[in-house]
Amino acid sequence: MILPDSILGVLGGGQLGRMFTVAARSMGYRVWVLDPDPGSPAGAIADRHLLAGYRDTAALTDMGEHCAAITTEFENVPAETLQFLEHLIPVRPASGAVAIARDRILEKSFIREQGLATAPFVAIRKEDDLADACQQIEMPALLKTAQLGYDGKGQLTISNQDEARQGFQRLGATPCVLEERVQLALELSVILARGVSGETAVFPIGENRHVNGILDTTCVPARIATEIAQQAEHMARQLADAMQYCGVLAVEFFLTTGGTLLINEMAPRPHNSGHYSLDACVNSQFEQQVRTLCGLPPGSTGLLSPAVMVNILGDWWQKGAPPPWEQLFKHPHTKLHLYGKQQARAGRKMGHYNCLATNLDEAILQAEQVRAELTTRSTGHA
Ligand code: AMP
Repeated sequence: MILPDSILGVLGGGQLGRMFTVAARSMGYRVWVLDPDPGSPAGAIADRHLLAGYRDTAALTDMGEHCAAITTEFENVPAETLQFLEHLIPVRPASGAVAIARDRILEKSFIREQGLATAPFVAIRKEDDLADACQQIEMPALLKTAQLGYDGKGQLTISNQDEARQGFQRLGATPCVLEERVQLALELSVILARGVSGETAVFPIGENRHVNGILDTTCVPARIATEIAQQAEHMARQLADAMQYCGVLAVEFFLTTGGTLLINEMAPRPHNSGHYSLDACVNSQFEQQVRTLCGLPPGSTGLLSPAVMVNILGDWWQKGAPPPWEQLFKHPHTKLHLYGKQQARAGRKMGHYNCLATNLDEAILQAEQVRAELTTRSTGHA
């Protein structure tokens, strides 16, 4: 077991690394962040910010010599980086699990091998694969790059083989999946923490709403039947067990209008849809990341209050001016989390807020009221 005052290393210094750093430092650990960006949100508050690339062997060796264990905040850290560090110290989650989650072809194939359902898909490794794929997959369909897609980036809707060929070129003629567009009733996520010896704590299921492919709102508890919740939890546990996973794992689900649960994708790390846990659970997903990284048992994921999380995007800034935070602070049960990013750009995640209430309907009302107050354009007139 790795105990407080040890140094924990995190690869990637965005908002997820920052919230990990806050949790780890509150629990008495020291944190080193590796990120090539001088404006890294996590680097700004870490004990040490190693300003270096993910393949910088000198920086990785430094981490390997001083840190007690390493975790990652994103799946696109090069596989060789994780493998290099694995020779020196515990890396959790392990490189094998990160490799599966990094690539949609590997990920969806792995999910199917476990006997679990995904939307119908075909792997496209070269343009010639499209002809057969377009026969097999019902149109319209989604063409998604196998790697490096996030927040709806790296994906296109296509309606026929011609569009598929053009789309494949537009996406860079890189490996893709062609996936049936399913009729969604709801999008759900299950986040769990699994310790080194397999003990697992599952967070309450989140009900997610996306706008333009980006997560907008998570409501907890999700408004779904108990059997659906149990099934989703069971599926997520099965994936984690099959990978002998150690760390925090997020599994995103589609619930179709026909009532079928399909796994969309997984993330080998805390997830945006789990940010409600910062204020609404006994342990947040970042505290669980610290615990599992350190070989400690996962803590309780008990829900203290119904909650709604709303993402704050760069779109909410007007001519560079931030939203009127003072409005938010008038709400005693709303909690603001900002990531310390200097540049507000459209679609960029700048922060989020959590609304807590005695029931979910009240939390939703509060969340929408705060949103209106933060986004209403001020005229400058009384
Ligand atoms: P992804 O990058 O795969 O998480 O997709 C981003 C969002 O696009 C999802 O959260 C859904 O809202 C939507 N989406 C992705 N794949 C599908 C699909 N096969 N059918 C319907 N909607 C989808």
